[in-house]
Amino acid sequence: MTGSLPVEFVGSYPDPLVPLHPSRAEFALLGRSNVGKSTLLNALVGRRSVARVSADPGKTTLMNVFRLPACYLLDLPGYGYARRSRTARADFRRLLEAVVRQRPTLTGIVWLLDVRHPPSREDFAIRNLLGRTGRPVLAVLTKADKLSRERRVTALADRAGELGLPADQLILTSGTTGLGIEDLRRSVLAAAGP
Ligand code: GDP
Repeated sequence: MTGSLPVEFVGSYPDPLVPLHPSRAEFALLGRSNVGKSTLLNALVGRRSVARVSADPGKTTLMNVFRLPACYLLDLPGYGYARRSRTARADFRRLLEAVVRQRPTLTGIVWLLDVRHPPSREDFAIRNLLGRTGRPVLAVLTKADKLSRERRVTALADRAGELGLPADQLILTSGTTGLGIEDLRRSVLAAAGP
C-alpha cells in the first residue's frame, strides 16, 4: 500500500439525491454488512478509522459522504443485516435504490463481495438492480488474504461466473494486507476522469 489520500468526511445524509459541491465524480460503495467495507475504505484512503462513522448503528439508513481530491465516495449502509428492523430495512432499500437508479450525478458503483462465498440472495437482488440501471460497476472481492494464492484464482473465476461479469470487472483485494488496494485506487481514479 502506498501513501494516504487527503480525505474529508462531508456528512451523513438521508436524502439520496442531496447535491454535492463542488461537483466531482461520485462512486457509491455497496456491500453486505460485514463484507469488509469499512476496512477497505480505510485502506483505500490510507487512514485508520475514517469509515468508523459508517458503522454507527444510528446511521444505518444514511449515506455517508467522503470527499477525496478527485471524487466523492458515497458509503451506503451494509445490506443483509438480519437484526435490523423491518422499517429500517425498507428505508435502507429505498435509499439504496434511489442512489443507484435516480442519482443524476452518480459516476459508478463499487460493489463489495466476500471472495470466499458465492453471492447471497441479497447479492443477487443487488446484481439485478445494478443490471437494470446499466450503471458502470466495479466488483471488489474482499478478504483475499484469507485464501491461498491458488484458491484466490479459482474463487475469482467462480465469482465472475456466478455474477455473470467479465473477470476484468472484478478486483481481488484485502483491506488487511493491502492486496489490490493500489489497483482499486487506480481504477477509481481512472473512472473519475481528468
Ligand atoms: P463492514 O461491516 O463491511 O464495514 O466490515 P468491516 O470492515 O467492519 O469488517 C468486518 C470484519 O471482517 C472485521 O472483523 C474485519 O477485521 C474483518 N475484515 C475486513 N476486511 C478484511 C480483510 O481484508 N481480511 C481479513 N482477514 N479480515 C478482514
